[in-house]
Amino acid sequence: EIGEREILEVSVLGNNVIVKGKDFEKEFLFDEYVNDLCKTCKIRKPPLVSKFPDLYVGECEEYSDIVDDFTDIEEFDSKTPEEKWEYITDALSVCTRCYACREACPMCYCSLCFVDQNKPIWFGKTTDLPDIIVYHLIRAMHMAGRCVACGACSLVCPMGIDLNLINRKLEKIVKERFGFTSGLDPDTLPPMVDFKMEDAEEFMLEED
Ligand code: SF4
Ligand code: SF4
Ligand code: SF4
Repeated sequence: EIGEREILEVSVLGNNVIVKGKDFEKEFLFDEYVNDLCKTCKIRKPPLVSKFPDLYVGECEEYSDIVDDFTDIEEFDSKTPEEKWEYITDALSVCTRCYACREACPMCYCSLCFVDQNKPIWFGKTTDLPDIIVYHLIRAMHMAGRCVACGACSLVCPMGIDLNLINRKLEKIVKERFGFTSGLDPDTLPPMVDFKMEDAEEFMLEED
């Protein structure tokens, strides 16, 4: 609606986003344009104030725990494993492996991403479904306990894939199994980069 006109000022008033330029002023409904994850976000002010007193601006807050009922993924969670697999594979089948999601992600800062490695080659370079799934599975493992649910990956996906669903599901699993929320405690390693001998491993199956 704004086209190539230059935006000079943006403000939020109630449920409206007001955008002003040289010769125009437009109002947009906040709910229709805001990132979906902003609607479910429970950490609306910068945390860790006491640990990094010189590194923040504006209003901050200390959080001891985050109460999140994950109602936004309730419908997905109510599906059977088979239905979930069908839903996810169907959603990801249009992925072109452009890697815009990785490029936009603040947690994807590896100097050499696994998708660009050729020694070893972790998986094929095609857009066949198995290769697409492997990309998203491995990236999801890298994000578990590190994703801060900023929503950037979903926002930039040219194919409109709802990556938020995967990220929120990861967040929920990490919270339920390890009581960990990403970004709240710089002194505790995220579960997937830490290992303890007493870690629960009921998912390991023993051979008969
Ligand atoms: S941005 Fe979308 S299309 Fe591109 S790799 Fe990520 S999920 Fe696939
Ligand atoms: S939502 Fe998570 S995976 Fe997506 S860009 Fe943000 S930090 Fe990265
Ligand atoms: S997908 Fe994994 S390996 Fe690639 S940049 Fe992100 S965290 Fe690093």
